[in-house]
Amino acid sequence: MINEKKKDYNKKWHAEHKLEANARRKEWYQQHKDYSLEQVKQRAQQPEIKKHKKEYMGQWYAKKREDPEFIKQQKEYKRQWYQNHKEERKAKAKLDYQIPEKRESHKKAVQKYKSTDKWNVTNTEWRTENHDELRTNNRNWERENTLSIMKDGKRMKIRVKKRPFNDKCELCDKEIIFRPDWHHWDKQHPELGVWVCQACHDGVESYEHGCNLYVVIPKYIELKTKLMENRI
Ligand SMILES: [Zn+2]
Repeated sequence: MINEKKKDYNKKWHAEHKLEANARRKEWYQQHKDYSLEQVKQRAQQPEIKKHKKEYMGQWYAKKREDPEFIKQQKEYKRQWYQNHKEERKAKAKLDYQIPEKRESHKKAVQKYKSTDKWNVTNTEWRTENHDELRTNNRNWERENTLSIMKDGKRMKIRVKKRPFNDKCELCDKEIIFRPDWHHWDKQHPELGVWVCQACHDGVESYEHGCNLYVVIPKYIELKTKLMENRI
């Protein structure tokens, strides 16, 4: 009976002194912060706690993995994280690539992942989903990084880093919808060139082959006019 009374009294006291008690607790925590954190850390190191946590998290993940909303969130989070740390990650990857062991282990990890069903399925799905975008990206990459040449009677592609193409002929300013030409004048330096439409390409090629367009064009106009006048 006394216990019940005491309980009631305590309850009442706590209800009445809630703010005070909270403030006191807060103060205690502030004063003993390091100690508290240390206690939590030590507790987390205990094998049975560790095991329990692992099990709990395992179950939690197993349940969450069934939830499409959660998967979506995770994907978005990872994507966002990568976007925010892109430069860092790239720099680190570059550094890692210099270390042979890391390079090897990375290669092996990629090979291992690529042999799994998960990769096959995801990759196929992803490729199907992004088919058009992939094709455009590939085409754009090839356009700015390769050059088609004739060698020993065969047409082949070589790697050439060109300037970026901005949808326009750099000579007549017309928009090029179908296929831009890369006009270059030095076989030893195919990376030096201009993006041109096919008509302008013909023009500059004539010029490069010694045709003096300053003379040729007026002459052409004159002759054309004469011929037309005679006809009409
Ligand atoms: Zn043009």
